[in-house]
Amino acid sequence: MDPSHQLGEGVNAGELQRLTLSELRERAEALDARIREHLKRDARPRATVVMQCAVCEQRGTAADTRERAAEWAFRHREENAGHGAFREITMRPYQW
Ligand SMILES: [Zn+2]
Repeated sequence: MDPSHQLGEGVNAGELQRLTLSELRERAEALDARIREHLKRDARPRATVVMQCAVCEQRGTAADTRERAAEWAFRHREENAGHGAFREITMRPYQW
């Protein structure tokens, strides 16, 4: 491998070999912290919306917007005469 290959953050293999063990540990800890922060951001719960028929209790597919959730309700109404009343259920996860 080319020794000047970049290892991220502007560090190349040659520079990395000159670092002391404690400097390497510091960099590893900083990298671990960045990875943990990234994973935490990606794991943030998001609200979802689902429509439920008030006649037969059937539910549509959970969606990330009300409009998408309502698409199921419009189809359900067209396919099932008399099924024209729905509940909009918003699921909002909490994380403490
Ligand atoms: Zn129904």
